[in-house]
Amino acid sequence: MIDLQIYSPVEQIKDPLFSEKEVQVFVKRDDMIHPFISGNKWRKLKYILPEAERLNKKHLVTFGGAYSNHLLATACAAAKFGFKSTGIVRGEEIENEQLLLCKLFGMELRFTDRSSYRDKPALFQLYYGDDPETFFIDEGGAGDLAIRGCSELADELTETYDHIFCAAGTGTTAAGIISGITKKKMLSRVHVVPVLKDSGFLKAEIEKHLTSTESFDFHTEYHFGGYAKTTEELLSFIMKFSRLTGILIDPVYTGKMFLAIFDLIAKDHFPPGAKILAVHTGGLTGMLGMLYRFKF
Ligand SMILES: *Cc1c(COP(=O)(O)O)cnc(C)c1O
Repeated sequence: MIDLQIYSPVEQIKDPLFSEKEVQVFVKRDDMIHPFISGNKWRKLKYILPEAERLNKKHLVTFGGAYSNHLLATACAAAKFGFKSTGIVRGEEIENEQLLLCKLFGMELRFTDRSSYRDKPALFQLYYGDDPETFFIDEGGAGDLAIRGCSELADELTETYDHIFCAAGTGTTAAGIISGITKKKMLSRVHVVPVLKDSGFLKAEIEKHLTSTESFDFHTEYHFGGYAKTTEELLSFIMKFSRLTGILIDPVYTGKMFLAIFDLIAKDHFPPGAKILAVHTGGLTGMLGMLYRFKF
């Protein structure tokens, strides 16, 4: 039985900037869901794992980059719920904290050159095509089951917010949150902060999963050089934020989202009285190898 009870409270954070601009900022603590099956990765797996179980699959095979939070979430979830797991990793063989944690949970890693990595179903077919017990999970857990899992975040909200922010890589989480908000007829405006450079395509990608009446704000100027790239400004913001709130955020995803929120507040993007909710999508282990970049 796959039991997926979670704890993800909402808490308010304070900063002199918020008082000055008369706005309130809250955090949906999805990072507290689980230390390794963290944040949106837990929500994405919520319906995927029971589906694997229903189909009598014993072995989860999934895909990710060398710092993928999804690989680690799958490795830990596989161990917890009794599956074998394999991670197909993009690029040449390397070792880092995130991948070592995957191995600690028993995941087998297969490194794959970038061009064959592009066709995931073909790779799966090549390695596991004749193994009926093996279950394909797309990179990042992307797919309709993942969107459904992410949409449930809206059901957990007991108060209303004018604005809801989330970071986006593939945009699956954002699509889920937007559909959840719409389904509940909440009037919150969803703001998506892509963490990649040239993320124009992502807006259409998210829209594919929505009805034509759903809309959202898309803030493309907070990528800080691109996926997993950082700047001094971003790192010092993260340090300031951690000291202010006691909540850790990372340079790849949530650091960029929170910096966007602070920046937009400073630029009077929201009227006085606005209530803003930031979704902390977790994924803090990805930062382990980056800790040496901070300048103390
Ligand atoms: C994977 C991840 C995201 C991006 O989620 P998508 O659904 O791919 O947009 C955001 N935040 C964290 C912490 C993540 O690990």
